[in-house]
Amino acid sequence: MAPPTKRPRVETDEEMSDDSSDSEESLPEHSSKFWLEDGNIVLQVEQTLFRVHGSMLARHSEVFKDMFSIPQPSKPQGAMVENCPVIHLSDAAEDVEEILSIFYDNMKAVDRREIPASMAIAMFRLGKKYQIDYLSEEALEAFRKDYPTDLKFWDPVSDTIITGARVALIKLAHELSLRTVLPALYLDFVSMNGLSDIFERLDTDILKTVVTGRDRLILHLQQEKCRYIIQIIQNKPAIFCCDSAECKSRRVNAFEELSLWRLWDGNMPHDLRVWTEAGTKLPRQVCSSCKKQIRIIFDKVREDTWEKLPGFFNLGRWEDLEDDIP
Ligand SMILES: [Zn+2]
Repeated sequence: MAPPTKRPRVETDEEMSDDSSDSEESLPEHSSKFWLEDGNIVLQVEQTLFRVHGSMLARHSEVFKDMFSIPQPSKPQGAMVENCPVIHLSDAAEDVEEILSIFYDNMKAVDRREIPASMAIAMFRLGKKYQIDYLSEEALEAFRKDYPTDLKFWDPVSDTIITGARVALIKLAHELSLRTVLPALYLDFVSMNGLSDIFERLDTDILKTVVTGRDRLILHLQQEKCRYIIQIIQNKPAIFCCDSAECKSRRVNAFEELSLWRLWDGNMPHDLRVWTEAGTKLPRQVCSSCKKQIRIIFDKVREDTWEKLPGFFNLGRWEDLEDDIP
């Protein structure tokens, strides 16, 4: 979907100006996307005015349905803009615009395999607040699919649904205690961002958890590397090793170079995705039995690390994680 466009500045009715006691504040502006000439309700969200249809809002949201079912006085009270009553909403204008796009532009038009993070967040927040259940449920399903609790669902990278801002997602999951999605979300974030970016992009309340978790993750992987490398140096890893001097000399080096413990850009840990031949170029001198054995170690470390992941980020154990869904 297109990024929000800059909204044109427009004159507003006197009633609106009267409503605003802070004369220093800028006047609300018509939404460039949702100012529908035959709309009968104006939503004021921050400094944006959306002119839409009350019946359409009531159709999607129980909260609006209840609001409009209250008999209205014959002489309208409160602020009016172009003969439409004004309803103030305490949400973010961008979020409301995302939701209105879903209502008016038909959500089916959106490619469901790719929901921008901003839209998923708006769907969840406003879906909950205005009791538009299908929106919040769909968003939650997308969060859980992208950030699973089970390692086998973490692997298919190409199945990603949510695209874009991870920071906003972390804030949402943190704020609403969506604990089941947090471990994979944190892992994804620390493996994609260096330390300076993490400090720059996260708020202090989340920062400590993320930096501590990242530190524990790196430390754990380094310890695992040391543990297994001793095995590889001292013994041959595979029973059926060809025992050639070449395999012996190269397999230690190859093991050290595994992507699992390599710190990308000097400080970003591995995201625990599955072994790929392309990402793990074991030299041809390493015999096939040893290659197989190194692969087994890779998988084992990956599984153990995933198991410990919630603990690294102070979330306890996977089996105890629950989402606080309001
Ligand atoms: Zn070998």
